[in-house]
Amino acid sequence: MPIIKDIVNEELLHRTLEKTKNPTEEQIIGILRKARKKQGLTLEEVGALLNATDPALTQQMFSTAGKIKRDIYGERLVLFAPLYVSSFCVNDCAYCGFRARNTAERKKLSLEEVREQVRILEDMGHKRLLLEFGEHPTETPIDYIVEVIRTIYDTKSGKGEIRRVNVNIAATTVEAYQKLKAVGIGTYQLFQETYHRETYQKLHQGLKADYERQLFAHDRAFAAGIDDIGLGVLFGLYDYRFEVLALISHAQYLDRTYGVGPHTFSVPRWQPADAVAWEEPPAPVSENELLNIIAILRMAVPYTGMIISTRERPEIREKAFEIGISQTSAASRTAPGGYGKSEKLAQFSLADHRTVDDVLKGILKQGLLPSFCTACYRKGRTGATFMDLAKPGNIHNLCRPNALLTFKEYLEDYASPEVKERGLLVIENYLAQIPDAATKRETRARLDRIEQGERDLYF
Ligand code: SAM
Ligand code: SF4
Repeated sequence: MPIIKDIVNEELLHRTLEKTKNPTEEQIIGILRKARKKQGLTLEEVGALLNATDPALTQQMFSTAGKIKRDIYGERLVLFAPLYVSSFCVNDCAYCGFRARNTAERKKLSLEEVREQVRILEDMGHKRLLLEFGEHPTETPIDYIVEVIRTIYDTKSGKGEIRRVNVNIAATTVEAYQKLKAVGIGTYQLFQETYHRETYQKLHQGLKADYERQLFAHDRAFAAGIDDIGLGVLFGLYDYRFEVLALISHAQYLDRTYGVGPHTFSVPRWQPADAVAWEEPPAPVSENELLNIIAILRMAVPYTGMIISTRERPEIREKAFEIGISQTSAASRTAPGGYGKSEKLAQFSLADHRTVDDVLKGILKQGLLPSFCTACYRKGRTGATFMDLAKPGNIHNLCRPNALLTFKEYLEDYASPEVKERGLLVIENYLAQIPDAATKRETRARLDRIEQGERDLYF
């Protein structure tokens, strides 16, 4: 059984924040120098960065984080869409539109409706989904969740298919996680929401009110053999400085205990939701603070992917891509059945309403390369195996070709003429930058095969 203090020692984190107040310029510059080595940072170093307020130093943090991002993730940005499957929920989380006290009608997709939604998502060009469920042991038991995943993998539209299903479901048992593992999920994501126990207790009612059930869920997932794990905090519930330290402390614990840290961090900020009377969340986080958080996480845990959603405005998302984000959703809906229709009960409201094609236009304008790649987990490159490739920088040699191949599929099958024209130039540009001649030749050959109609070619 894990011990709370090994994962998050509240006293220590508060003390660290106190002790690192008012850092000097020299201190921060020294920490940034260390960050550039891409070996991570200690909690004290992170505390100092969180306490730095000088705008000139913030700019330096952004440029250091940006450099680390480019070194590790290159020019790539991976795209996915959430698929909300059910809004039934037994919990009453104070911040969420699906909370139990909301009397609005609930919806759970039938398997036929899952197929309909998946076809729509495939026709948009998506290859990766993140499944979202409220928690309801009788409406959405684990066997239903497994059936939904099977149905998704089995649903094809034209040349489209979903190749990786990531899952965000409530904390559950080792047996249930084993079922998820067996059906073939990508990442299992679960957010602690707030690591601050007193705040957690105040904001949760129902099965999720058990702080330990939530905090130890990732250990149970590891015990079930799931080694790509996603962590997150819902920013706005408690002091973000504490939450960032706690998130890093949790990541360090997983690394120490299982030899592999989290695969991803998510950084959602609270957004207005049905049946939540808040005008402001209890501890609001500004857009600039969110960017700070992203930069600090990128420096502190360089090999953990980072996800930003369409909760944020396009302008902020663009900045975030520069300083640390490696995955983003596009054209999302947060109501079950919300693709192609307007459904009533959404979990929360969004700030980026663009189509996939428009999001891609923005990404290309930034000089980045959109990727729909799902190769790693299908090739067994998960957990420690993935990190062993990522840390010496070897993952680049696989990721860039795979990004080019999956983006080429998008251009052939779904792009507007404008995105296709611009996208083909971007492909040529990055193809030319593949350093290994044999890999470059093989990628070129596979791009040609995709043009001839073949699909799903990957390294
Ligand atoms: N019900 C499961 C759970 O709570 O873990 C699964 C995922 S829930 C559908 C996804 C996430 O949405 C939650 O973990 C929470 O962080 C986030 N969320 C809930 N209400 C939100 C709001 N009003 N604004 C932004 N994010 C919210
Ligand atoms: Fe239910 Fe998850 Fe919303 Fe909580 S956050 S009310 S568990 S859907």
